[in-house]
Amino acid sequence: MTADIDSVVRSWEHPIETGEMPESGTEFDAIIVGGGPGGAAAAGYLAKSGSRVLMIEKEVWPRDKVCGDAVGGKSLSHVSELGVKADIEATPHFRVTGIVFSSPKGNTVRVPLPEEDVERMEAGYALPRAQFDSLLFDRCQALVRGAGGSIIQGGDVRTVLFDDGAGGEDPGEGSGDARHAAGIVVQIGGRKGEERTFYSRELVGAAGYRCPVARSVVESSYSEVMMDRDHYCGGYREYWRNVKGCEASVGDIEIHFVDSVIPGYFWLFPVSENVVNVGIGMVMGLLDKQKKKLKALQADVIANHPMFKDRFAEAELIPGSAKGWQLPFGSPRKKSSNQPRRSSMNGIRLVGDAASLIDPFSGEGVGNALVTGEMAARHIMEKRPFLEYQDEVWKVLGPELINSYRMQKLSRKSWLLNWFVGKAERKPVLQEMMTEMIASKEAQENLHSPWFMMKTLLF
Ligand SMILES: Cc1cc2nc3c(=O)[nH]c(=O)nc-3n(C[C@H](O)[C@H](O)[C@H](O)COP(=O)(O)OP(=O)(O)OC[C@H]3O[C@@H](n4cnc5c(N)ncnc54)[C@H](O)[C@@H]3O)c2cc1C
Repeated sequence: MTADIDSVVRSWEHPIETGEMPESGTEFDAIIVGGGPGGAAAAGYLAKSGSRVLMIEKEVWPRDKVCGDAVGGKSLSHVSELGVKADIEATPHFRVTGIVFSSPKGNTVRVPLPEEDVERMEAGYALPRAQFDSLLFDRCQALVRGAGGSIIQGGDVRTVLFDDGAGGEDPGEGSGDARHAAGIVVQIGGRKGEERTFYSRELVGAAGYRCPVARSVVESSYSEVMMDRDHYCGGYREYWRNVKGCEASVGDIEIHFVDSVIPGYFWLFPVSENVVNVGIGMVMGLLDKQKKKLKALQADVIANHPMFKDRFAEAELIPGSAKGWQLPFGSPRKKSSNQPRRSSMNGIRLVGDAASLIDPFSGEGVGNALVTGEMAARHIMEKRPFLEYQDEVWKVLGPELINSYRMQKLSRKSWLLNWFVGKAERKPVLQEMMTEMIASKEAQENLHSPWFMMKTLLF
């Protein structure tokens, strides 16, 4: 008997069965708001430790997510631990074996991420987020339900409830807030849907850059700025077929510092055989100064740039794939003592984009969402004081985020990019060093030293 290829291979395009909706008024050990990588990881890790969790997702699967679709090395240990790696490898995906960078002048350098060394180098994959998120959500919802918890799809969290002062738990030195998370109100099934209320003393905000839990912490509780246009990036993505040089399912992803796009970059990330994610990103504060919007900038590069117009000559845009979204960067804010911005208070921990943790140079955020999803779950399980979460997030991610912010600022200068890529193109030693810097954990530690950066750039 032949298997139904469509149902086996394209399982992520099917709905995910998540069981009965819990009764309004039910109490849980923890409530996770958002079912993307950060929320799914937090829910999955909590469920693995036996906690009774409610995970609420606004959309109903299958759903798309605007992204470049690169799942870097940092994600792989969590992807394995949550049992999703084999699922990814059993479905179509692009295995990344290198990154090609080009400078405004057109110099190119290829940084190999050798396949044979993939475990040490942690190169990663590229695959549509519709597929990656579905595989991850499906695994994690099964873990949650297996541990006696519940899942809601199509549930829009509107209101965060607080317990005013009677929480009992020490809010932690310097928190300045006696309020404690008590639960949430969810609107189910669109605008006219019914409302249900669920309770827990542990909330995880994982609903992306507009997360309602993050708003209740950052804006409502602390009157701080949630969105800062110098630290948010606009991103635009399209899927294309038949782009020359992007036919295989193994190979390089490409990052191009094109003159008309600087201070941002243009990317080509193949996601499976003959399908490529094509996109562009730019810091919002800088985009405000541009006459053209991202969509128009991208159309211009594809139609007119000498490096790309021939490659796109026979290509087709996949209908319905053109979408924009925002990237909350993890670059340090000048005046904040809670870097990159506040990510915890009594009974609440924020993860991934809800905590503004996207790498400000590469635009990668899936890895940091998974890392903080695990971290939030661990802190909840260990009953750690809430402020320790904020501290650990910055201790673990701060050095690389600071470093990437420096790199982002350097990459705004065309002459510097021309000089550096030109130099790297000619020097294999520099290419090897870049490989280590991008893919090896030990070398990334070195990257946090300004002296190492200096040596790398100058010699
Ligand atoms: C154009 C672009 C390109 C990018 N490229 C890359 C890349 O190549 N590699 C990479 O690693 N990262 C990339 N990123 C960043 C990456 O997409 C995010 O960092 C990542 O998705 C963060 O995961 P998350 O779980 O925190 O949030 P999300 O993935 O945004 O998930 C949040 C979830 O919460 C749900 N939700 C929202 N509101 C509510 C609500 N009120 N109630 C309940 N649920 C709610 C949403 O439906 C969603 O499912 C890119 C981002 C953009 C915009």
